[in-house]
Amino acid sequence: MRNQYYQRIYGVGIAGLEYLLASQQGCCAICPTHWKECAAPKASRYETVFVQHLYVDHDHETGKVRGLLCK
Ligand SMILES: [Zn+2]
Repeated sequence: MRNQYYQRIYGVGIAGLEYLLASQQGCCAICPTHWKECAAPKASRYETVFVQHLYVDHDHETGKVRGLLCK
């Protein structure tokens, strides 16, 4: 369910986003803020925990995810 949501919106599944987060050492792509330090907005039941804290930056033309950013 969630995985299909991510696949549809971002073109990658949860595993892909987790891989990306791991490659960013759990932090924002452009600053050293760890996702746990980012304020969580209103939770969406479709989003896994770390995605609630981060903004998924993706290219609307290619649909490719560029990185996970703090909000
Ligand atoms: Zn940041």
